[in-house]
Amino acid sequence: MEIDGKTGLIGLIGNPVEHTLSPVIHNGISERMGINSVYVPFKVEKEGLEDAVKGAYALNILGMNVTVPHKNQVMEYLEDIDEAAGHIGAVNTLVRMKSPDGKDATKAGYKGYNTDMLGLRRQIREDGISLKGKNTAILGAGGAAKAVVYMCLSEGAKTVYLLNRTVEKAEAVAKAMNAFYAKEAVIPMALQDYGKIDEKDLIVFQATSIGLAPDIDSAVLEAPAFYEKVSVGVDLIYNPADTKFMRLVTEHGGKAYNALKMLLYQGVIAYELWHDVKVPRDIVEDVYTDLKRKMYQKDNIVFIGFMGSGKTTVGKELAKRLKMNFLDTDSYIENRTGKSIPEIFAKEGEEAFRRLETEALQHLRDTVKNTVISTGGGMPLKRENAGLLKEIGRVYYLTAADSIIYERVKGDSDRPLLRGSNPYERIHELMKNRAPLYERAADIWVDTNCNDLEEVIARVKEDWAQFGNRTNEQL
Ligand code: NAP
Repeated sequence: MEIDGKTGLIGLIGNPVEHTLSPVIHNGISERMGINSVYVPFKVEKEGLEDAVKGAYALNILGMNVTVPHKNQVMEYLEDIDEAAGHIGAVNTLVRMKSPDGKDATKAGYKGYNTDMLGLRRQIREDGISLKGKNTAILGAGGAAKAVVYMCLSEGAKTVYLLNRTVEKAEAVAKAMNAFYAKEAVIPMALQDYGKIDEKDLIVFQATSIGLAPDIDSAVLEAPAFYEKVSVGVDLIYNPADTKFMRLVTEHGGKAYNALKMLLYQGVIAYELWHDVKVPRDIVEDVYTDLKRKMYQKDNIVFIGFMGSGKTTVGKELAKRLKMNFLDTDSYIENRTGKSIPEIFAKEGEEAFRRLETEALQHLRDTVKNTVISTGGGMPLKRENAGLLKEIGRVYYLTAADSIIYERVKGDSDRPLLRGSNPYERIHELMKNRAPLYERAADIWVDTNCNDLEEVIARVKEDWAQFGNRTNEQL
């Protein structure tokens, strides 16, 4: 993008701002729509907030996003506040005020909006989640939770259970929202009182900061009895992509979503307010792909799957074509221990081998880059290993039918697990137990029943171009 005398400036004020993804959204839209504006993050201290807002206006800045810790305090320095933002008590978007003829109003300042709430509403509508007449629950009662309470009520939810560690905060939010809507729909409670909720089929929004990377194995509430009541769970956290809260929801039969789309849409809505345009759907989708790539990009490709699913064959060929290194975890363990896999199984047993696998993954997580990794068939069986694999790279599960696996491995005498009188039956049995564990451990499944290496590689490359750290051009 060429910057000239007409380039409009948009930006973000907050502290810290170093890791923000918002430039990906706004500059991505400007470039694709050919709009001459640039988005820049500004780190602003608490004491400098008023000067920053007034200075931004004086510098003719078109609009600003506002993030932590300024979303409440910034309201003091605005000319006007949108009604919903006022009730939520938080503003994340400032729009330069205009008179009806499009020129600046005589009131010199910005109007504040809460596009977090609007972004989440757009996400759930798009995901087909209707709140009308439904029982909902929100975990947390901080800034984001307030926007979620407002959204639930404005979308017609019947009840909003507001569960928070500090129950007084939940009570204060409930009191304000119930007064505004003139009903008693918001019910504040302490987190540990979830048992008092009688309803099932709850739609739950996770709005605490628990579970955010690197604390990926925590959820603010872990009791199975709570998740048995949940039919849909939306985690406002999007890093990691698959949070512990989301896993608990799906393990109990519910549907789970993260809120990366909320981030996308709050940005798109702010952009539309600033530039008075409608961002076309295909551009929104392209920006979402950029966002996912930026957020979840991984250096390594990991293959999991049953023996004979093609992990090594596909892995080696792919590594060659992508100019990446190749590593097989079984060979890696053999090199580290100086023993063959059948020898480890025979002398130390399967349990000892699984421990060696975990140690190998811990080491690989901290050391490998730009590598295609083929794993042993039992690798993801341990829950801990499944988590480590996702930390190492993007995990592809190569699938194949039992009969096809049997055809591929039947002559192979080196497979300790297949020794016995009826290897087909053994494959069938193992697959039945392992398939759900592979599915849980994978980012994506790739069907290999076609027995066509080119086709399998093409599918992996297509996905990697979108989510990995390679671009289409490099592929
Ligand atoms: P906040 O105002 O600081 O609120 C934090 C919430 O987490 C409070 O309810 C707090 O409970 C709870 N909490 C913190 N530590 C806890 C602990 N150890 N045990 C139990 N509860 C704990 O933060 P926020 O702005 O609302 O943000 C909440 C989350 O939403 C963050 O993870 C943020 O990344 C995410 N978010 C996502 C988007 C998006 O676009 N997807 C937008 C906004 C926010 P207490 O009241 O008891 O302290």
